[in-house]
Amino acid sequence: RARQAASLVEIMQRAAQFYRQQLKQTPHAIDYLKKRGLTGEIAARFGLGYAPAGWQNLAAVFDQYADPALAEAGLVIVNDAGQRYDRFRDRIMFPIVGQRGDVIGYGGRVLDAAEPKYLNSPETPLFQKGNELYGLFQARRAIRDAGRVIVVEGYMDVVALAQHGVEYAVATLGTATTAAHVQKLLRHTDELVFCFDGDAAGRHAAWRALENSLAILSDGSRVGFLFLAPEHDPDSYIRAFGKGAFEALLGGEVVPLSAYLFKELAAQHDLASSEGRSAFLQAAHPLLSQIRAPALALLLRKRCAELANLQLSELDSLWQIKS
Ligand code: ATP
Ligand code: MN
Ligand code: MN
Ligand code: MN
Repeated sequence: RARQAASLVEIMQRAAQFYRQQLKQTPHAIDYLKKRGLTGEIAARFGLGYAPAGWQNLAAVFDQYADPALAEAGLVIVNDAGQRYDRFRDRIMFPIVGQRGDVIGYGGRVLDAAEPKYLNSPETPLFQKGNELYGLFQARRAIRDAGRVIVVEGYMDVVALAQHGVEYAVATLGTATTAAHVQKLLRHTDELVFCFDGDAAGRHAAWRALENSLAILSDGSRVGFLFLAPEHDPDSYIRAFGKGAFEALLGGEVVPLSAYLFKELAAQHDLASSEGRSAFLQAAHPLLSQIRAPALALLLRKRCAELANLQLSELDSLWQIKS
């Protein structure tokens, strides 16, 4: 098992080297990155590459294209007829780097409007999506210096923010933010800002991030949300308005998790009627009961009681919380 894992690391490393080298030799792929505002320096920092068009380019990289380890690494797909072909073809490659600095997976983006826009590595022995954050390895030092981390949705958001000097951003990998993600990030800093796309999908992702953070919060950790206008994501925002404008948003527009939680619940229920307030309490209870940070839990129950026009002691007896 240990030997196998080591060879998967080697395979990913060799592939990364190949993709980087291909990028250097492919003017239209370089042009694509330039059009998106990226310099060679930032491409090198993130190890960006290019997987050429064609079905079996990796056969020239590895002596044994039929080695099951290539499929296990997620680089080669074996179809029902037993035919093998490269998973990533004609895509910009974003290597996902694990804690030890090894390439553990990839995201690959098409250069045009083809679908799917992004293709990610499958889960492999090296790569579990729910645990990994794109860019964390590169951002570690900047996160410590800034005292916070920004969590975004996409590879391009991380790279574009870094291009503009905001080097403390990481991305979830096309999945919802998990409790494991939050736990991992809170080991690096006590301030987390979720800044997802301004569209409906991004807003939905923000609520999921809130739900999955509740159990992980500790007193003293600050989790907040930065909501962009519907037409923007962090990449488009910083390209349009620059680092100063983005950091001004971080300085003034971050909504604390508690405020976001109550704003959403209050928007969904009519706090002017007893029926609405009872439904509000019904919705709040499963959320608040997940919070294990004692002071935060108490403060949020108090706010909840105020909004429901109850005393805290009444709310606590309703929820059978012993004081
Ligand atoms: P770009 O700016 O390059 O168009 P984006 O990051 O803004 O990309 P979104 O559509 O906002 O793209 O998606 C956010 C993230 O979700 C992507 O970076 C990627 O990780 C993931 N994602 C998007 N589309 C897919 C897909 N078809 N399959 C898997 N993951 C995807
Ligand atoms: Mn989006
Ligand atoms: Mn986006
Ligand atoms: Mn984008």
